[in-house]
Amino acid sequence: MEQTILIICYLIASVTFILGLKMLSNPATARRGNLTAAAGMSIAIAGTIFLYKEGDTKLGNYGWIFGGLVIGSIIGTLTARRVKMTAMPELVSLFNGMGGACAALISIVEFHHYSHTVLLGSADTTAAVNGLQATLLIILAGLIIGSVSFAGSMIAWGKLNGRIKDFAFKGQHIANIVILLTTLALAGYLLFSLSASNALVFYLILGLSVLYGVFFVLPIGGADMPVVISLLNSFTGVAAACGGFLYNNKAMLTGGILVGAAGTLLTILMCQAMNRSLLNVLIGSFGGSKASGPGGAKEQGSYKEIQLSDAAVVMSYANKVMIVPGYGLAVAQAQHACHELEKVLEEKGVQVNYAIHPVAGRMPGHMNVLLAEADVPYDKLEEMEQANNELSTTDVALILGANDVVNPAAKVDASSPIYGMPILEVELAKNVIVNKRSMKPGYAGIENELFFQPKTSMLFGDAKDVLQKLSAEIKAL
Ligand code: NDP
Repeated sequence: MEQTILIICYLIASVTFILGLKMLSNPATARRGNLTAAAGMSIAIAGTIFLYKEGDTKLGNYGWIFGGLVIGSIIGTLTARRVKMTAMPELVSLFNGMGGACAALISIVEFHHYSHTVLLGSADTTAAVNGLQATLLIILAGLIIGSVSFAGSMIAWGKLNGRIKDFAFKGQHIANIVILLTTLALAGYLLFSLSASNALVFYLILGLSVLYGVFFVLPIGGADMPVVISLLNSFTGVAAACGGFLYNNKAMLTGGILVGAAGTLLTILMCQAMNRSLLNVLIGSFGGSKASGPGGAKEQGSYKEIQLSDAAVVMSYANKVMIVPGYGLAVAQAQHACHELEKVLEEKGVQVNYAIHPVAGRMPGHMNVLLAEADVPYDKLEEMEQANNELSTTDVALILGANDVVNPAAKVDASSPIYGMPILEVELAKNVIVNKRSMKPGYAGIENELFFQPKTSMLFGDAKDVLQKLSAEIKAL
């Protein structure tokens, strides 16, 4: 009876994961989707703790289990509550890394169980040997993928918060491939030798996987991090699914597969959006080494400044305004002020839309989440291709804290670290107004020629402050 209830718990959890994921695809239902999946996960955890049996024995160890649960919940809740919206992407990376670490820890624990079984010599038939090999295969897959995801996510976390800089050395691609092949060869050896005394090889595989994770993400910079972040996400999902196989746990399996599949799809979409091939990502062969930092800037000439009152006039007499949000909008927490400006302009009969670049901000979907928080209607958000079609008939492109995603160097400068990335072609609009605080570069660390073009006017200041003043000026006109 208890086991039937447990199966039902896992079934409920699996269904809530699928429903939750579906709801996450729309900002209006995303919050509920998250809660639904979390409720399902709680049911699966409670079911496992109280109903799961190994043979006739229940889990026990309640002190450890609840101790871990309480400590983890307190740390998780406090961190999530205190984190600033701008630090959200790094937190997501950190949590993703923890998922990878859990999958690797499961593999370590299960390797010792496996070794024990081999030492007892219980695999004396071909079927038993095959069964052991299958188990070891899953253990090794969880170990390698989980550790790569853990190490890579930790580097991504450091890069997103600026503590770790892009780093590459000569021959890094070759080193990456050698490390990966050595890891796989050692795993193959372990798999076919079926010897329990190979703990050393096992830990060597662990060490090499961690090293690969570090080397794989370290050189990636410029505009390529989003692809890597979604790839690491899918790795964690696959590693968790390995745990589901090992324990024959349907909820873990479904959760892992969903994360793995969603992460893979996002990686493919990001690759398409960034004009990169997945193979390049896998061998860590693009990006950072070329990223030049502000030092790579060319002498660009002079730029033109615009006063708030003039910007207000230009915008209120426009027919069509396209707002281009970027990371700076999130830094300034100016999403509500931005929505306010949109409403003020619409009252004046101006048509306002938002152009969303797939890698604007610091995490996939960052701008969508940010604007949804301010209740900006979803149908006002235009994806890159659609926005680029609209820009030639737009009177004012208002760029709010965006930089790399509107940098024409991506189209014309083959030496640029963002070369090849499709951008929002704001220079097609009749007027371009750029709001940022200074002439400093964005994430890729490169100068932006757009700011020096004749059509462009710079409106300096913190985005929230500027937007509030702009709305007031336009209302007063
Ligand atoms: P950028 O990082 O290129 O530029 C942001 C700009 O915002 C800066 O130039 C900064 O200029 C300005 N800014 C900062 N604070 C404020 C403020 N308070 N008010 C007004 N402006 C401000 O952002 P984009 O969104 O254009 O591009 C995203 C970049 O991040 C891309 O290179 C992308 O590859 C990368 N990335 C994206 C990830 C994703 O998943 N989306 C993940 C990891 C990296 P100033 O200091 O002068 O104000």
